[in-house]
Amino acid sequence: MEIAFKKIAKESLNFELVKEEMRFFGKVSRKDNGLILLKANLIGQISHTCDRCGEDLKIEINEPLEILVSEGIYKDAIDELDVIEFYDGYIDFDGILQSEIESVKSDYHYCGKCQN
Ligand SMILES: [Zn+2]
Repeated sequence: MEIAFKKIAKESLNFELVKEEMRFFGKVSRKDNGLILLKANLIGQISHTCDRCGEDLKIEINEPLEILVSEGIYKDAIDELDVIEFYDGYIDFDGILQSEIESVKSDYHYCGKCQN
């Protein structure tokens, strides 16, 4: 799913993306000229394997997400929020969801047996 930067005004625009077992939904609004504020929630499960024994497991996700989305290169590194840049005039929500999933997976996760 993509939304053109130029379609996003000060007034917030709702979006919702469902992919496999994940639901990514919230709103985008224009913060600054080329800058969009994205406030969303990630809810669902990610299939993964235990980092100790290799057992299949599901990671439960329920987290708020607040990031800035920049049209083109973001020069101003003052803001405390994470910034994602897009260069073709569109915000790629699948790409954002995918990178959030990858960042969850990059942490260590253990199955019930290995946690104890
Ligand atoms: Zn395990």
